[in-house]
Amino acid sequence: MANYILVMDQGTTSSRAAIFNERGERLAMESMGFDQIYPKPGWFEHDATAIWNVTLEVSRKAIKKANLVASDICAIGITNQRETTTIWDKNTGRPVYNAIVWACRRGDATCSDLIDRGYEETVNKKTGLVIDATYSATKIKWILDNVDGVRERAEKGELIFGTIDTWLLWNLTKGRVHATDPSNASRTMLYNVYDLEWDDELLELLDIPKNILPEVKDSVGVFGYADKEWFGHEIPITGIAGDQQAALFGQACNEPGDAKNTYGTSCVPLMFIGDKPVYSEKGLLTLAWGIDGKAEYSTGASILTAGAAVQWLRDGLKIIKSTPESETLARSVSDTAGVYFVPAFQGLAAPHWDMYARGMIIGITAGVTDAHIARATLDSMAYQTRDLLDQMEKETGTKLRSLKVDGGAANNDYLMQFQADILNVPVIRPADVETTSLGTAYLAGLGAGIWKDRNELKDLWKAEKTFYPNMDEATREELYEGWKRAVEFSKGWIQR
Ligand code: ADP
Repeated sequence: MANYILVMDQGTTSSRAAIFNERGERLAMESMGFDQIYPKPGWFEHDATAIWNVTLEVSRKAIKKANLVASDICAIGITNQRETTTIWDKNTGRPVYNAIVWACRRGDATCSDLIDRGYEETVNKKTGLVIDATYSATKIKWILDNVDGVRERAEKGELIFGTIDTWLLWNLTKGRVHATDPSNASRTMLYNVYDLEWDDELLELLDIPKNILPEVKDSVGVFGYADKEWFGHEIPITGIAGDQQAALFGQACNEPGDAKNTYGTSCVPLMFIGDKPVYSEKGLLTLAWGIDGKAEYSTGASILTAGAAVQWLRDGLKIIKSTPESETLARSVSDTAGVYFVPAFQGLAAPHWDMYARGMIIGITAGVTDAHIARATLDSMAYQTRDLLDQMEKETGTKLRSLKVDGGAANNDYLMQFQADILNVPVIRPADVETTSLGTAYLAGLGAGIWKDRNELKDLWKAEKTFYPNMDEATREELYEGWKRAVEFSKGWIQR
């Protein structure tokens, strides 16, 4: 039986491909990097054609590595770096400009202009987001306004836009399908997450022609078929979601209050809140996915500096040789001796939104050593996570039930225990920490009918270790109060 799933996981620095079986087990994985293009400070691009080529190559290699042939694969799932923007000619498939990457800040001025003109609330009430250059909208506008002839060609109907999922889908289907899913659409800042449609007023505001936009389909279901040319066999594409939402699905977060946090260079907590949108003043609302003809929602955002602070202990301060060593060093003392480290290297994002904050270590007395600093660094990831989760709970009225974890720093047992203590909920680490790929396999497998419904997935998902809270209420709140005071001191440091 052809019951294997191919997952294309198209990330910021590499494309990965993985093969899953019908028990949700990963059999093979291949990965390959591509050029990171920095035309000037703050600008960040990718070659979309290179992304397609690399993704196709790793996919073929993964099938081979799993000792399979294309006819064994019954479904393709796509997950992608979100917000990254491509516009291409729908007849030739040639991009009109490099893909503008999510982290590119060239839309800052346009965003400031929208805010100055008083559009913050309008955008927030339609898209769930706060105006920011991360999202696709200002990147699309930049290409239309700055690349020769592009606006005219777009208006004539020759060009189309897509985030990377759409770009891969269009190439796989040889231009037959121009579509995306709700999780990706909701990161463009052009999609109305309440009415579930592209928003005419926002399109007009940014002067973006509607005809370049993809159709938005459920994340689960048949999007189209990968042409026979690519793998020697036609394969349906049956699941698509942006990377963070795919990870939420891969952590089997299907009950309101279920949440995941990814501990990487940055942290990305996301909580599933069900099928009702909840207004988020801080811009945390995002569509989780579309399933069974219904949209479902999540809340969350990125913590800019998380594991990066541990890297700084290693590369900047040189008090550890490897990042896992932070655990041994932290455990060599019984507390931080009152030290707090606010690692606001690039300012503070949600819920603080202070781009003028900078990193700060406070509370130092003569007895403080590198071990206290290491411990305070790990603690800062847990505190920042609580800041965001508290805000998410407050805005949605949904109580956090548990936190499922993934990412490199989730292997740090000291940190996971402290996280459970400071949140007062169980922290659960899964057996398969490649949750983005796993979630995409789940979506595509549901779309292909390998699994009937989400209940079946619950049985496939396996925990490796659970960390139960083990701290008394008074200590928890006293520690957290200290953190909140420290954060206030770090704010507004850079003078405007
Ligand atoms: P990304 O995908 O964001 O590059 P990863 O998920 O690979 O990140 O995780 C790497 C990050 O996690 C690094 O910033 C590193 O400092 C941190 N990290 C990795 N292992 C540990 C550990 N055992 N303890 C603390 N931090 C760690």
